[in-house]
Amino acid sequence: MKASDIVEVRSHPDQLRHVPRPGHPEVPARLRSVLGALAANGGPWELEQEAVLPPDDDILGVIRWLHEPSLILRLVEAVERAPSTLDGPDNPVSEGTLRAALAAAGLAVQAALDLVNGRLHRAFLAVRPPGHHAEADRAMGFCFFNNAALAAEVIARAWQAPVLVVDFDVHHGNGTQRLFWERPDVGYLSVHRYPFYPGTGAADEVGEGAGRGATRNFPLAVGADDAVYASALEAGLEELGSRLKPAAIVVSAGFDAHAGDPLGGMEVTEAGFERMTRAIVQAAETWGGGRILSLLEGGYDLQALGRSARAHVASLVIPGERPAVTGAS
Ligand SMILES: [Zn+2]
Repeated sequence: MKASDIVEVRSHPDQLRHVPRPGHPEVPARLRSVLGALAANGGPWELEQEAVLPPDDDILGVIRWLHEPSLILRLVEAVERAPSTLDGPDNPVSEGTLRAALAAAGLAVQAALDLVNGRLHRAFLAVRPPGHHAEADRAMGFCFFNNAALAAEVIARAWQAPVLVVDFDVHHGNGTQRLFWERPDVGYLSVHRYPFYPGTGAADEVGEGAGRGATRNFPLAVGADDAVYASALEAGLEELGSRLKPAAIVVSAGFDAHAGDPLGGMEVTEAGFERMTRAIVQAAETWGGGRILSLLEGGYDLQALGRSARAHVASLVIPGERPAVTGAS
């Protein structure tokens, strides 16, 4: 079996060490739910529950490419006085929050490096805390460092080639949009509920300067179902794919648009996530040699999250080339 036929699933137990206050929806059990669903009965993917991370200094070096050093310092200080918060009550900080955030960012950086070096073709990274709300100098919406943006930045810098970030989380990824707002080489496509948290993501937000047209938002009314949600994503992929011709696609895979999610208010099912994933695979095969790095973002109903992530990963497997079952179980 060629390396290019395998979808790798990577995670790291340090991410369980971020423990928000009771009642907060972004809990360690989310990760257990995703990994449990992927381990059960195996599947055509390889599951690494404790994947190799780069050294901390290397992870921090890449984080500083996109985030202000002050954000890192303020997180360190917040951990020292834990339990505490960073930039407001949405982002509770426990003793292990820095460790967890570095592991999530480290998984993103390592997978991007492996993709750049041809050791990895397609992967799903089970990461938390999530990342797409995190801005250069601000933690926000349960996010500390922007994992997907870091992965995209590593690939874009290494290859000097365009990368497209595709975000189907129910919330708009304000952090990712803002980080690449004026960049022609990193596109951002988001399908999300609007108006809704965090308030950004209107259709007329398209980037500025050299980045004008590389950002594309599809704001959807509350209650959108599989057909509405996936059609919007497909239209965006067609449009931004042909415009950017991305050498790789990075996915902000949030599953909080699921009908069972307590926060999202949408009606998407596992079938909708499968359809969107197939569209992303097709776009990646058309423009980027099939290269995809998908990273977990939101999803707050533990059962729906596990089932949706499994449907997503199963659909990432290259069509027509389903390898033998290799998953741990
Ligand atoms: Zn979300």
